[in-house]
Amino acid sequence: CGIVGYVGGQSALDVVIAGLKRLEYRGYDSAGVAVLADGGLAAAKKAGKLGNLGKLLDERPLPAGATGIGHTRWATHGGPTDANAHPHLDNSGRVAVVHNGIIENFAALRAELAERGHELTSETDTEVVAHLLAENFSSCGDLAEAMRQVCRRLEGAFTLVAVHADEPDTVVGARRNSPLVVGVGEGENFLASDVAAFIAHTREAIELGQDQVVELKRDRVTVTDFDGAPADTRAYHVDWDA
Ligand code: GLU
Repeated sequence: CGIVGYVGGQSALDVVIAGLKRLEYRGYDSAGVAVLADGGLAAAKKAGKLGNLGKLLDERPLPAGATGIGHTRWATHGGPTDANAHPHLDNSGRVAVVHNGIIENFAALRAELAERGHELTSETDTEVVAHLLAENFSSCGDLAEAMRQVCRRLEGAFTLVAVHADEPDTVVGARRNSPLVVGVGEGENFLASDVAAFIAHTREAIELGQDQVVELKRDRVTVTDFDGAPADTRAYHVDWDA
């Protein structure tokens, strides 16, 4: 229901959790985070309020990292359990994805992935994306390109945000019929389903259009359509008080 992504010089976990708190008003049933740190990926997720996730993180802290994603879930496919909470990881544990919306053709994609030996561990429509991203990344070596390839296979409405341990300092997002906004900072960039998530850090925003993929680095934001062609976006200044 709420999505936050961050790449920069701050603690990604702190930025992402604070952002998720700003999105709490939307309502949700589970929450989770993933950070890239020490060449790997670490994730934590929990059913219930953000306080439950906070407790888990106190008991089992994640390593500090400057790239991360977070999610508050409003379950549509699969009950509100820890396993169904986002982020969803592929079997290598090196890709993490969060998702708002519904992937209509997930059953066919699940069957296809199972045939190729993937083990899916949740009941969500979302998990297929982590596995497809991992497959495509291993052939093209570029997370934004892998995301474009995945998006071309998806039906339904989605905001997707992902990280890959083999492409540090990068967050990739995609949007179809579901909101996604970039927050442009200095040496840091943000992604969120609502500007409220990053307004404490920057008021310079870029609204993504339909069927676009964004690649966020610390000092660069690149937006394309699902085929990789440069895309038109709308940059604006957020002038209301959050
Ligand atoms: N359809 C996904 C799920 O049930 C995402 C739900 C959401 O938008 O939070 O896990």
